[in-house]
Amino acid sequence: MDWDRINTEALEHFKALLRIDTTNPPGNEHLAASYIAKLLEKEGLKYQVLESQPGRASVVARLKGNGNKKPLLLNGHLDVVPADPDHWDHPPFEAVEADGCIWGRGAIDMKNMVTMGLMTLLLLKRSGVELERDVIFAGVADEEAGSRHGAVFLVEKYPELVTAEYVLNEVGGHTLYMGDTRFYPVQVSEKGICWFELTATGEPGHGSMPHPNNPVVRLARAIQALGTVRLPAHHTPVVENFLRQLAAGAKFPQNKLLPMLLQPQVAKALLAALEKQNIDQAIGLNAMLRNTASPTVLEAGKKVNVIPSRASARIDGRIIPGQTLDQFLEEIRRVVGPDINIDVFEHHDGTVFSDKTPLYDAICSTLKQHDPEGVAVPYMIPGFTDSFAYGRLGATCYGFSPVKLGPELNFTRMYHGHNERIPIDGFLWGLRALYDLVHGFCRAQ
Ligand SMILES: [Zn+2]
Repeated sequence: MDWDRINTEALEHFKALLRIDTTNPPGNEHLAASYIAKLLEKEGLKYQVLESQPGRASVVARLKGNGNKKPLLLNGHLDVVPADPDHWDHPPFEAVEADGCIWGRGAIDMKNMVTMGLMTLLLLKRSGVELERDVIFAGVADEEAGSRHGAVFLVEKYPELVTAEYVLNEVGGHTLYMGDTRFYPVQVSEKGICWFELTATGEPGHGSMPHPNNPVVRLARAIQALGTVRLPAHHTPVVENFLRQLAAGAKFPQNKLLPMLLQPQVAKALLAALEKQNIDQAIGLNAMLRNTASPTVLEAGKKVNVIPSRASARIDGRIIPGQTLDQFLEEIRRVVGPDINIDVFEHHDGTVFSDKTPLYDAICSTLKQHDPEGVAVPYMIPGFTDSFAYGRLGATCYGFSPVKLGPELNFTRMYHGHNERIPIDGFLWGLRALYDLVHGFCRAQ
């Protein structure tokens, strides 16, 4: 294969996708979907563009195998979160090449994986290789706002198009440095969500005469409590193993500190100390160890001289896999007290997928081949991806969107952050790794 030519082609598509503004809201994913559809058309691949609403398009393509095994799906969401150009060194929708990187909103999250998945499908088609399972490519809308118009829409309305044995998706496969060790976390688990509203109701009145039943003040107390509490620790085997493996590769003091996070008596004090020192990883580690609740949206009175009868706040709650919604709400109730109303408006459970599968083994050996000193380690992310939707159709989903990063680039900070960018050689490394993985795993033996 002529990888120089393939790399040039991949970079061209990647930059073109970055230049399409798919900021969600509103999304406008149809612009990216039709760019991809044109390429699929040209290569003679079967595809469908599916819209849940005008402009909210997803594109699904399939390369047929001999049917001996069930399909593998490569997923990438087409939407991106907003970018404020004032805080960027290069404009976020121009795919500028500078300092060995391509800059742009979506460079890491996740038009890189969209491009790699698409290129993998095109290359497999061109090679004419016999596959023992179908390879599906899905470029989907709306992940950044909860997947309703994208993966969830496809799973509910077109399950026959996206049912697969395995899904490869985002937030894993990147380089994570610990001591002298290069880890590649592979995402096998995600926290669930519980988005809820807290409401305090009380006596309306005139602002000139404060009274003790002001709902704004009562709500503020509940928010203050929720915003500062550390909910009880709940350890999962995935997180325990992740921390132990990281510790084994780390140097002093991380090799001693990481296992201490699994001792609830000392973990709280340790996390508080790390957060005080602004240690980046502390907030991520905290979120792996417990349910969390972030107050994000406030709503109360309209006029400065009127005490309102109602005040409310929306809270982004995240639940450790294995914990039920009731157990989570019980923890919240204990913090906010009995006289605040709790209404859940969005919920799904967390996920855990087994790492004892042939695909997980194939991921490990692909990584060994492309970075012989790299160590793959399964992990859980505090957020969620489209994987929760595909999991409902029985798929085993992994976050594996390979990219080789230097120690100077902080993967987590670039997710939704300013100056999102990807090293060009790290991106091309990822393309090659993903292609080799899918080709090796799906090819008829
Ligand atoms: Zn993403």
